[in-house]
Amino acid sequence: MCTLLVIFSVSIHGISAVNYDIVVAAPQHPGSIKFQKVIGGIPFTKQLMGQINNYLWSTILKQNTPADRKPVDVVKVALSDFKGGEAVTVGTLINVSLVYLNDYNGPLDLKKEFMSLLHHEMTHCFQWNGANTAPVTVVEGIADYTILKANLYPPGFMPRGAGDRWDKGYDYTAPFFEYCDTLVPDFVAKLNNMMRTHYDVSFIKTITGKPVEQLWMDYKAKYPGVNK
Ligand SMILES: [Zn+2]
Repeated sequence: MCTLLVIFSVSIHGISAVNYDIVVAAPQHPGSIKFQKVIGGIPFTKQLMGQINNYLWSTILKQNTPADRKPVDVVKVALSDFKGGEAVTVGTLINVSLVYLNDYNGPLDLKKEFMSLLHHEMTHCFQWNGANTAPVTVVEGIADYTILKANLYPPGFMPRGAGDRWDKGYDYTAPFFEYCDTLVPDFVAKLNNMMRTHYDVSFIKTITGKPVEQLWMDYKAKYPGVNK
């Protein structure tokens, strides 16, 4: 009996285990040197990815069993020499720009910026997107919500109450979702889990009891004078 239970739990764990693969495509690039020396290189990144993965399941998406979760075998981070953005995630492949890492001179220190960026990009690997029917702005709002909740929100991001519509995306939508959380605990987790096979804006009313336009007006009223 005991042996059977052990085998069962090992096999369940085996199903949900995710591997983390990190590739530095251009080791001599100055961005790669910073990745090794300032950020902590592959060992730090691998450890960080495990932490973020658990944080996503336990805290952001509230998915406690493998059946709740998006099936993911491997998340790969590829640090490559490309311009035009900090990172691009396709499926579970996160491409991070070495040019961006090398040139970064922002309000966070580089290690924190990298942590913030990976929180955002790894959210894309594990969140549902309504089988590609959810608006990109909602998907990006949830990814920025993860970094907001993790206290890795870059100071340059929009303040709470900013924006002229709820689905402007990114750092406009993330604090609005945080507000929705105060009305209904785990709002974002509930919304994400409804987005498994399709998306409808009415999900937000189903969860909160209020149409999203009403929620947006209530949210804006909390932050008079913030209209950016
Ligand atoms: Zn994104």
